[in-house]
Amino acid sequence: LSDRLTSVFSSLRSKGRLSDADIDATCREIRIALLEADVALPVVKTFVAQVKERARGAEVSQALNPAQQVVKIVNDELIEILGGETRRLRYAKNPPTVIMLAGLQGAGKTTLAGKLARWLREQNHVPLLVAADLQRPNAVQQLAVVAERAGVAVYAPEPGNGVGDPVEVARRSIDHARRQQHDIVVIDTAGRLGIDQEMMKQAADIRDAVSPDEVLFVVDAMIGQDAVSTAQAFMDGVGFDGVVLTKLDGDARGGAALSVRHVTGKPIMFASTGEKLEDFDAFHPDRMASRILDMGDILTLIEQAQKTFDEQEAARMAGKLTSGEGFTLDDFLEQMMMVRRMGPIKNLLGMMPGMGQMRDQLNQVDERDLDRIAAIIRSMTPGERQDPKIIKGSRRERIAKGSGVTVTEVNNLVVRFFEAQKMMKRMAGGLGIPGMPGGRK
Ligand code: GDP
Ligand code: MG
Repeated sequence: LSDRLTSVFSSLRSKGRLSDADIDATCREIRIALLEADVALPVVKTFVAQVKERARGAEVSQALNPAQQVVKIVNDELIEILGGETRRLRYAKNPPTVIMLAGLQGAGKTTLAGKLARWLREQNHVPLLVAADLQRPNAVQQLAVVAERAGVAVYAPEPGNGVGDPVEVARRSIDHARRQQHDIVVIDTAGRLGIDQEMMKQAADIRDAVSPDEVLFVVDAMIGQDAVSTAQAFMDGVGFDGVVLTKLDGDARGGAALSVRHVTGKPIMFASTGEKLEDFDAFHPDRMASRILDMGDILTLIEQAQKTFDEQEAARMAGKLTSGEGFTLDDFLEQMMMVRRMGPIKNLLGMMPGMGQMRDQLNQVDERDLDRIAAIIRSMTPGERQDPKIIKGSRRERIAKGSGVTVTEVNNLVVRFFEAQKMMKRMAGGLGIPGMPGGRK
């Protein structure tokens, strides 16, 4: 039986690579999905080319059909690109840690300042929010409101104290933070609706004045195709270390994430998902990948197919158990260890129709018993393992002593082994495993 199973499985194991036709067909769909997700065209092109390259080198999966396999490669690649170098905030060795926010007007910087402050405060930091956006009439007031909601202090120019220069405000805020024992400073800056040189210069001047530990580029997920040029402009004008994607609660499919990541190579660190301060989380590449691909059902299907396949693999291994012929205690131990690596025995055999008998048998083996059983078998000589019939009297005592169990336990194991062997021989006599390839239908 085991031979039969093995041959069935090796025939399934079709050799070779994915065909170009399969790859091209699926990549056309992927291309459309990415464009619909608002990934910038040049990024789509490079990305798809990259995926094709990888798919060409990929061996034909035994678990998935070619289209599914290409989608899986795309999904994996997306997760990797989006998640590569995911990292936490870098805190300065000498506080305060300075975090500067940059981005277009309306991107969500001021809201993010409040979210970050709240999040940092929950981790026992004492952040200070700095109003370095003196462009918009209500900007300072808006920051004061979110600071209050977040329960943190704000540093802003007092009306009439002569400080109207955002660079100066930012500079002074660091000293202020040091004096007031704030360990983190979050600097909110001004943005414009479009990229303009004056705004960029101001941001760069603030950066030079405070040497931030982190410059975070805040970008609205709804920006779509414009993400590339915006990110590029901020990269050139100010430079940044990480990206925060906002407004992910909207219906944007999030192509901006891929575009920005692809163009700048900077990690996406946080995701903003609403107007409230708690609508904020670390960025999850896998969620974003499936959002961009928008192939939830297909991805679920692929996952299931892969899982079913893994289960069949497990069953195939278990199938070895049923050969019976030449089955020794060494095999018994090896199979047990293999089965254990696959997960609880009961689940494993539960997946195989018609394996009820076997399952009952193995059900008697508690997972915790496995260690004891392994110890007993390991205390046996090779000869004893090959031919357990010779395990009598003094041998039993020696084995029991060697493995720290009672003679009765050694007896039980040997008896159980013989039972298993008998049963396997019975099954090997042509019963087959119904529902399995090559088994009884
Ligand atoms: P700034 O100009 O970059 O400082 O952007 P703001 O923080 O003022 O945000 C602009 C608008 O977007 C405000 O109305 C915010 O309430 C809203 N906003 C910010 N982040 C999010 C978000 O993640 N989701 C939603 N739905 N709205 C947001
Ligand atoms: Mg603002």
